This record gives sequence, C-alpha cells and structure tokens, in this order.
Amino acid sequence: MAMRMSSLFLRTLREDPADAELPGHRLLVRAGYVRRAAPGIYTWLPLGLRVLRKVEAIVREEMDAIGAQELTFPALLPREPYEATNRWTEYGDNIFRLQDRKGGDYLLGPTHEEMFTLAVKDMFGSYKDLPLSLYQIQNKYRDEARPRAGLLRGREFVMKDSYSFDVSDEGLQASYAAHRAAYVKIFDRLGFEYVIVKAQSGAMGGSASEEFLAVSAIGEDTFVRNDAGTYAANVEAVVVPQAEPVDASGLPAAHVEDTPDTPTIETLVASLNANHPRQDGREWTASDTLKNVIVVLVHPDGTREPLAIGVPGDREVDAKRLEAQVGPAEVTAFEEKDFAAHPMLAKGYIGPGVLGEERESKIRYLLDPSIAAGSAWVTGADEHGKHVLDLVLGRDFTADGTIQAAEVRDGDPSPDGNGVLHTARGIEMGHIFQLGRKFAEALDLKVLDENGKLVTVTMGSYGVGVSRAVAAIAEDNLDDIGLCWPRAVTPADVHVVATGKNRDRDGDVFAKADEITAALEAAGLEVLYDDREKVSPGVKFKDSELIGIPTIVIVGKSLENGVIEIKDRRSGERREVAVDSALDEVL
Ligand code: ATP
Ligand code: MG
Ligand code: MG
Ligand code: MG
Repeated sequence: MAMRMSSLFLRTLREDPADAELPGHRLLVRAGYVRRAAPGIYTWLPLGLRVLRKVEAIVREEMDAIGAQELTFPALLPREPYEATNRWTEYGDNIFRLQDRKGGDYLLGPTHEEMFTLAVKDMFGSYKDLPLSLYQIQNKYRDEARPRAGLLRGREFVMKDSYSFDVSDEGLQASYAAHRAAYVKIFDRLGFEYVIVKAQSGAMGGSASEEFLAVSAIGEDTFVRNDAGTYAANVEAVVVPQAEPVDASGLPAAHVEDTPDTPTIETLVASLNANHPRQDGREWTASDTLKNVIVVLVHPDGTREPLAIGVPGDREVDAKRLEAQVGPAEVTAFEEKDFAAHPMLAKGYIGPGVLGEERESKIRYLLDPSIAAGSAWVTGADEHGKHVLDLVLGRDFTADGTIQAAEVRDGDPSPDGNGVLHTARGIEMGHIFQLGRKFAEALDLKVLDENGKLVTVTMGSYGVGVSRAVAAIAEDNLDDIGLCWPRAVTPADVHVVATGKNRDRDGDVFAKADEITAALEAAGLEVLYDDREKVSPGVKFKDSELIGIPTIVIVGKSLENGVIEIKDRRSGERREVAVDSALDEVL
C-alpha cells in the first residue's frame, strides 16, 4: 500500500534541530525519519523504519546465503556470563547495568558473545553439530562517552552480530572467509566506498581481525593504505609488535622472535630513505653512522627518560628540537656520563652510533609495550650534520604497543615494504574477528571430536552497524536541499506529487495521480504519494526534495496538455512526458 502523505505519521521541519552536528543527521531529523528520545537514543518514524528495514534485509539475505541462522537473544541479560569472561568489569562505564527488585544484577547487552557461546553449549555437544553460524539483528546498548552525530554513535543502536563455531582452526578460517565475503557483498550492495583494514585485536585477544571502513571525512577512525593496495590498516593496528618478554629490570629479554609486524632495522633504513634522503645522494644502508642521536622515552606515568646513542658531540640542533617537545630540563640535564651509566648500555641494547644489527634491539626497546607505553622521540644527524632520524618521533604508543591514531604520518613506509602509506578517515561499518578459543574456554564450551575426546570450540564474531549504516548512507547522499537515497535503501521507489489544491477543485489532477500511484504499485514499486489537500505546490516540492526519494513524479497543471513531469532527485533533471507513457518512463 502506498504511503499517503495525507495520513502518514510525518511532519517535516523547516528549521535545523539544534543538537545535530552533521548535515545527514540534520536532514534525517528534518525530513521526519528519526527523532531524538534522549542523547544517543532515537525513535524510528515510519519513513526511517523503512530505510532501516531495507538495510536489515540486505544484511539478512547475505547472512542467510552463507548458511547463518537467525535467532534473537534478549537485550536484558544476567551478569553471571559476563562475569565469567571478565567483561562485566572490562567494559567499565560503557555498559548499562541495572538491578531487578531483588537486587540481582543485569546489563543491557553491548554484544552477545557470552550468550551465543552458552546457547551452543546448552544444545550441541558433538563435532558433527559443527560448523555452525548464528546471527541476530538486534538493539545493542553501550553508554558511549560521546554519543555523536545521532545514529552514527548511538547509545541504543541496531547491530547485526553473528558468531561462528568450529572444531578446528581451518574451520574457523573458512567461517571467517565466508563472513568476509558476505560483508563484501553487503557493503557493495549498500553502495559504500569502503576499505577492508587490519584492525586491532582488542581486549579479549584473538588473532585476525578486520574492519570495513566507509571512506568518509567525517569518520572517527583513521586508516592508512599504500598505493599498491597491498596494505591497509586502522592506525590503531599499523604496528602490532608481539608483547616482548620483560625481565625483572624492566628491560626486554635479550632474545626476541621476529614477527612480520616487528619494526626492524630495515624499517628504519626504509624510513630514512623515504623521509631523509642523504645529502650525498646515495641510499642509507644499515651500516651507516649517525651522530648525536638522542632518544627520549616518555613513560606511562609521564616521567621522561633521555637516552643518547651515538658519538656525543654538538647537540645544539637536536637539543633545540627536543626542548620544544619535552622541555629544557630533560635535554640539558643529559650528560655523556649518564649515557655511559645507563643500564641499557650494560645490557648491550645501545651502543656506538652505527645503524647496525645492534640497533634492532633499540628499536624494539622503543616499541616494547611495557616500557614505551607513553611516547618516544628519536632525533639525530648524519655525518654532514643534517637532521635525519625521526622514525618514532613524537608518536604515542598504547599499552599493547601499537602506534596511536594521528601519529602515523603520510609518507611513512608501508609495513609490507610496498611503497608509502597515506592516511584517510573512515566510519567503521563492520568488524570481523577470529576470537579463537577464549570465550569457549571461559564458558567451557567443548564438543566430542571424532575420537570421543572433548575439545574446545573455536569461535569467530562478526558485527555490522545496521543503524550506523543508515546514518552513514545519509551523510554520503545529500545536497543543500535534502537527502538523495540510493535505490537499494530508499524508503520508496517513487514519490508521486499531486499539486492540486483540493479534490473538489482539482479532481482531474488527483484522479490521475491516484491512477498513476496504483499503476506503479501494481508494477511492484513502492510509492510515497503526496495526496495532501490545501498544501501549496511549493511546500510539496520542498518536502519531496527534503525526503529524497530518487524519482519524483509531478502531476499538476500541465495535465491539461496531457503531460506530467518526472524529476530525478539526485541530478535535478526534469522532463515532461505524455501522461499515457508515465508508467513506462518511470519503470
Ligand atoms: P567504534 O570503534 O565505532 O566504537 P566498536 O569497534 O566499538 O565501534 P564493535 O564492537 O566492533 O564496535 O561492533 C560492531 C559494529 O557495531 C561496529 O563495526 C559498528 O558498525 C557498530 N557500532 C558499534 N558501536 C556503535 C554505536 N555506538 N552506534 C552505532 N553503531 C555502533
Ligand atoms: Mg566502540
Ligand atoms: Mg572500533
Ligand atoms: Mg570494532
């Protein structure tokens, strides 16, 4: 049935809502798609709900297509399972907690790993029951510190979350790959320009994790990618050195295993060649000498530790630069004897100023999560006195050793050695995650294997921000006068506007518009029909532009000449067509 604007639960607003930061959000409110109920909490009005349902339908189709089964868990959840995985505590202030009348603790689910794990444990017990993928499309609750831009970061929001259960690691790989492929289809169908980036593994551990980021200047995530398209990562995950074993003195153990992500002397040399070409025109090599290298570590508690590596000499240039960043005390207080006495030297972590193999451990020292959880500055000069080295200058390291957003710079070498990185902003639309056995272990989810032996199940978890997708699409599909929905998610295919004043005076116009609406519907199209009386044509046109349905059919005065007008909302192109061919022209 067509949505008739004469009775539709809709009021468009001429004024921008005061609390809306972003243009798409303003338009969603003004055009009557959503209304704010509380900060970060929104009511879906009829038009908005149709868009939401279309996004859901696309997600549902692609989940069903990989054999995932839909179910729905409650949003109101007991504390115990979240206690068992430590997330009751780990989530901190981000979780909505509440109590029942007897004082029992509950939470509103922020994500449902625990519940799915327990459900599978309840019902299944054999390797023959697996693999299994389950999903739901449901409201999630997170007490976000800064609910932003309406639906983009809600405190109540709609997420599709799915979970895979496998016996073997290869099984998990396959389930993950199937979800990844489904996500590619989902985000293609939703029309996003997106990148798939390496993501941080997060607090619960696990191995592989990728995010689907819609490329957008308003995004809260920063990602990097190289030109060749061989590397893309959230900046939170650009460098993820393995946590190094730390001995009692707080220094890293002498021997560390190489991982692909561990920055090495090659990374440093590549950075020098990319950022600091030598004056003599030849390339830097690992055996080149650096003079006056000064390293300042900033510990998590804020204490600064100046270290020098290299031949002490004229430090004026570097000292000036360092003073600007760390204050004069640390630099001027630094003496050669301090360097000589530094435990790092005794341990062999630092030595004379050669970028040789021994430097490797220094770089690792800087990146070691337990030590360099604050910042590290490195600065130095080549033999011509030219400032050269700022590989980790001024960059912040998180507790798990990754470089923080805003600290990775355009032009940094790509960790895969393929060219340099460029930074851009994105909106996290989806996140896929190989959880491994952490949740199954915590909640004791085991099945019998082929030999009758109990084995722990390995899991994946996969999320799509469904309500966030509506907001992100809106932000990406608008102009000065309103929204311009892509066909895949538009609340209706055609907006029929009858411009007559009322049915008594303009009976023909309304009758023809009724007829066209019915014909379009019979042809399988969804129609929003502006059949309001006593509303001026100008107001109706403005509303149609604001609401943003892709095709607008105007039945008005020109009906006398046997024509109606068809307008393309996005391009603004209008053309008159013979009324008899209206249906063909729209289809
Ligand atoms: P963000 O980094 O934006 O806070 P997240 O990493 O905390 O997101 P996940 O736990 O990975 O989110 O949840 C899966 C998906 O749910 C996200 O990729 C995102 O699309 C969506 N999502 C997460 N938080 C919100 C929110 N507050 N409002 C709307 N959608 C959200
Ligand atoms: Mg979050
Ligand atoms: Mg995130
Ligand atoms: Mg995420």
